[in-house]
Amino acid sequence: MAKSYDVIIVGAGMVGALSAILLAKSSLRIALIDRHDGEYQLSSPPAYDARVSAISSQSKALLEKANVWQGIGQDRIASYDNMVVWDGLGEGYIDFNAQATAMPELGHLVENAVLNQQLIAQVRRSENIDLYLGDTLESHELSESGVRVELTSGQVLDAQVIVAADGALSKLRTENAFDTIEWDYGHHAIVTTVEIAQPHENTAWQSFGEEGILAFLPLPSVDQKHFVSIVWSVPPKEANSLMALDDSAFCRRLHYAISKRFDILGLTQVRQAIPLRQRHAKQYVKAGLVLIGDAAHTIHPLAGQGANLGFGDVKALVEVLEKAHRRGEGLGVSNVLRRYQRARMLDNIAMAAGMESFKRLFSTQQPLVVQLRNIGMKQFNKGESLKKKLVARAAGLSSFS
Ligand SMILES: Cc1cc2nc3c(=O)[nH]c(=O)nc-3n(C[C@H](O)[C@H](O)[C@H](O)COP(=O)(O)OP(=O)(O)OC[C@H]3O[C@@H](n4cnc5c(N)ncnc54)[C@H](O)[C@@H]3O)c2cc1C
Repeated sequence: MAKSYDVIIVGAGMVGALSAILLAKSSLRIALIDRHDGEYQLSSPPAYDARVSAISSQSKALLEKANVWQGIGQDRIASYDNMVVWDGLGEGYIDFNAQATAMPELGHLVENAVLNQQLIAQVRRSENIDLYLGDTLESHELSESGVRVELTSGQVLDAQVIVAADGALSKLRTENAFDTIEWDYGHHAIVTTVEIAQPHENTAWQSFGEEGILAFLPLPSVDQKHFVSIVWSVPPKEANSLMALDDSAFCRRLHYAISKRFDILGLTQVRQAIPLRQRHAKQYVKAGLVLIGDAAHTIHPLAGQGANLGFGDVKALVEVLEKAHRRGEGLGVSNVLRRYQRARMLDNIAMAAGMESFKRLFSTQQPLVVQLRNIGMKQFNKGESLKKKLVARAAGLSSFS
């Protein structure tokens, strides 16, 4: 016999799990399905997980509302008050700081595994959520009046709507023929954790140069030693040769790539190289189905905004579904779901376009362009009100729409 829910969410990653918790708070009955077993092994500091996320104020507020942020140990969160961006090929330089923008901080760094673990713990505490882990969809039927899924475990579930939060390679997106606009960024991101000799000063450091796009993101100090998470985006061939270096040769390259600002003492985590692809679904909704998070869009990590956009989707979707539920409207009705699409698409596209322009602008070493962008950066750095606007946008406190 089929079990009945209001919403079935496929994918219990950051975005799917957060939407489940927030929807369940409005008394909606949720089935949350993930092929993963939900067990996240945390590494011990200073071997911080290689995958971290910069979390904006808006995302933090949502995680607090979901009672998730409160569960993260202070020894696993680093706040950053400043951000310094420079052109490794010139003297162009921009600094952002929280004080000038009247914000307590610019954001926080948290390991993905820590966040996922806390989200799943809160899901388990939520009365209105049934969790189906180590399971996935065998088949599904969609209509405006209701959806039905059969899981590989054999269970059959009914609901009003399916939320696809199944990540960048979303099977629900491809099986339901959502068109996407996508291209390869021609970059792989190398991520790992690094011990540095100098304090990171609660600052996110980012260099754009001939060595690629490199971020040093602050992590909590341990025994007065200093650690950063790095995201180093380079063309695939370059990524392969960097991955092939031994740790000490890699650290020497890193020292030059960060313009020798930091002495690198060593790696405390293994390196991973992640291919980067821009992808954007042309539509986010069909009758009975809605895409959120990476299932709907992926962008370059250079501004650390992918998960934050996903959390923005969660906020909008929860508002739309809660309102429709109160009004007695069907949650899978296209007109209802399109309200979510209208609320999010412009913002997501604007961010994707911004990342593409940045990536292109800084990928060239053409002397005239380098000269012009350095002049541009210096001018921009003097424009406090423009900087404030950009910071508010990155914090999720304002939108393009
Ligand atoms: C190098 C790098 C650095 C980044 N840094 C930042 C940053 O600093 N800040 C930021 O905001 N964003 C950042 N991002 C982006 C961020 O990591 C993603 O946007 C975010 O993890 C997407 O979350 P999600 O829940 O949508 O997808 P995912 O995290 O991919 O979760 C998808 C879930 O669906 C499950 N799943 C998949 N397929 C199925 C299936 N068929 N059946 C059942 N379950 C399924 C998976 O097991 C998984 O649990 C970065 C990305 C990269 C690559």
